[in-house]
Amino acid sequence: MQASPLDVLKRYFGYDAFRPGQEALVGAILAGRDVLGVMPTGAGKSVCYQVPALALAEEADQGEKTAVDDANLGASVPATLTLVISPLVSLMGDQVRALKEAGARPAYFNSTLTPRQQDVVLERARRGWYQIMYVAPERLQDPRFQAFAATVRIPLVAVDEAHCVSQWGQDFRPSYTAIAAFIAQLPQRPVVAAFTATATARVREDIVRILELNDPFTLVTGFDRPNLYFGVEELGDNAKTARVLAYVRQRPAESGVVYCSTRKAVDALWEELCREGVRAARYHAGLPAAERSAMQQAFVVDDCPVMVATNAFGMGIDKSNVRYVIHYNLPESIEAYYQEAGRAGRDGEPAQCILLWNGHDLAIRRYLIDQTEPHGGAAEDADALTEEQLAQARANRYRLLKLMEGYCRTAGCLRGYMLRYFGEDVDTAGAEGPVGDPGAAGSAPVGYRCGNCSNCLGTFEEVDVTPLAQAIVRCVGEMGGRFGKTRVVEVLRGSESEQVLHAHLDDLPSYGTVRESAAQVRAVMDQLAGRGFISVSDGRYPVVGLGPRAAEAQQAGFSFALKSSRKQDARAAARAARARVDALLGTDDAKRDRPGVDAELFEELRALRKELADEAQVPPYVVFSDAALRAMCRRRPATDEEFLAVPGVGEKKLARYGETFMAAIAQYEDGVRAE
Ligand code: ADP
Ligand code: ZN
Repeated sequence: MQASPLDVLKRYFGYDAFRPGQEALVGAILAGRDVLGVMPTGAGKSVCYQVPALALAEEADQGEKTAVDDANLGASVPATLTLVISPLVSLMGDQVRALKEAGARPAYFNSTLTPRQQDVVLERARRGWYQIMYVAPERLQDPRFQAFAATVRIPLVAVDEAHCVSQWGQDFRPSYTAIAAFIAQLPQRPVVAAFTATATARVREDIVRILELNDPFTLVTGFDRPNLYFGVEELGDNAKTARVLAYVRQRPAESGVVYCSTRKAVDALWEELCREGVRAARYHAGLPAAERSAMQQAFVVDDCPVMVATNAFGMGIDKSNVRYVIHYNLPESIEAYYQEAGRAGRDGEPAQCILLWNGHDLAIRRYLIDQTEPHGGAAEDADALTEEQLAQARANRYRLLKLMEGYCRTAGCLRGYMLRYFGEDVDTAGAEGPVGDPGAAGSAPVGYRCGNCSNCLGTFEEVDVTPLAQAIVRCVGEMGGRFGKTRVVEVLRGSESEQVLHAHLDDLPSYGTVRESAAQVRAVMDQLAGRGFISVSDGRYPVVGLGPRAAEAQQAGFSFALKSSRKQDARAAARAARARVDALLGTDDAKRDRPGVDAELFEELRALRKELADEAQVPPYVVFSDAALRAMCRRRPATDEEFLAVPGVGEKKLARYGETFMAAIAQYEDGVRAE
């Protein structure tokens, strides 16, 4: 008989209930149906395949016993295990460690194992040691692995980060396209369960088609993470460093990540923070492996509260108490941003995601797109692209970058912009953004307001710039789509530059019709481009042309507003927003005093957790999450039953840590009573 999913969830992971979407996906898998789960990072995708994997393995174990009982001795029953295909080695190590802690029997198979170790793992798997095995995608082509797969029973193949099959996104991995062929040559077709945090319609279609999912049950859970505050601040390079320094100093006990776009930037910022006495770690692919893992460890076990890193950091880090993620540079896409920022507040407690950017960042991003292969340092193998694939990847990246730029420039709700990007219908009234296909930038100055982002909380003035907007669109039309932004600005402002005169642009009707500053003209141009009135081509030397909505600009009733672009105003507004947010969320001291949570007891349990974690050589959150500790403070469990009822406590955790924690709680209560 199959154990109920809820029972498995409770016994291994200690959770009382499934999160939205999890139950339906688990149910569909156990009913034998392929699934596609689209969930934001941190929503709990792993549980969706781990619970079925464990339930299926337990069922098989029982089946075997029955076979033995039936005196069916000698007939060797093939081992049953679930395969999880995942592109990241670091993810596997962590997941396997966490599953072991929960009392499961996991393994991984990738090229970090020596050939000898690989043989041992496969042999043990054949003998039924494991319930679940993580496999790197390129291992599926290994003849030894294929031979192994033919001898065991594989009821379920889970594909993590399934968007890697699509050339339309940014993480294309050629080895993912061979997954379907691998599955097809298995003796029995398993249920195939695909998971991703990338939700654009195009990528979703690619996943279903290329993985050959069979009429999958598809579930897209809400991308909204209400506990996350989103902020955008346009700052010069020096001001960014000062901002980060002030921010981390304000929260010495909180854990946070600062992402930079290059290794050089990581090193520079890290050195600056260290010089200023901040306990910071750093991480990028250019560091020796030993230093990388030491730094990662220092951050994960809370020895260093701040981690300065490139995007190579974090894929496999399930540290739930990250209180802020600051982006020191512009990320390459909304997906990348949402994934990285989403590492904040996985425990559901308030957390902040702040993006610092400037025009220089954009130039660097364009340069990076032109220069580099589209694989980050976290990739395990040299999953190489052909020339054609590379060209397509670059074009995609330009498109995605433009939408990222739109996020920085929008005057509308930041959360709304992202949700719309991910295809959520946040608010149809007044929303101008794309729904589904992110073909045009989503900028909705009116409409959806979340009340927890810098644009909703800020006091940005909306300035009416209708005549200027119309002049720009008219001028762009006259110039015939052959010139860049600088020329357009020069023509409008009546410049006598050599290029203008040489091309006879001073003959155009629009020549010299505008009085506003060059910066103001550029700001309005950017917004016009973001909302589809003009277009700016991709590439390093973008050319300005008319957009699909150009005609609207000359119609009666057209109006166009701009978020105040005067620097002083913007700074003051950002400061005001910051003050309000700090008051709303509270800084360290205010935050520890949560209703019903005794700060002193919490600190004691935290120290105990750190001690036990160091002893077991695991990160503290693997022992218990902050949320679990807080629940203990509130409930003060004194019996095994009460301890089991704490969210995040399973049987294994009770057996291993229950006594120690309950003793600490009892001792604390005695102390309080004695006072
Ligand atoms: P994802 O893979 O979607 O990024 P994870 O699977 O790593 O997310 O889960 C994120 C966090 O949520 C983990 O700490 C996990 O233990 C926790 N979690 C998952 N499911 C539940 C649940 N049903 N109840 C409480 N916490 C959960
Ligand atoms: Zn908002």
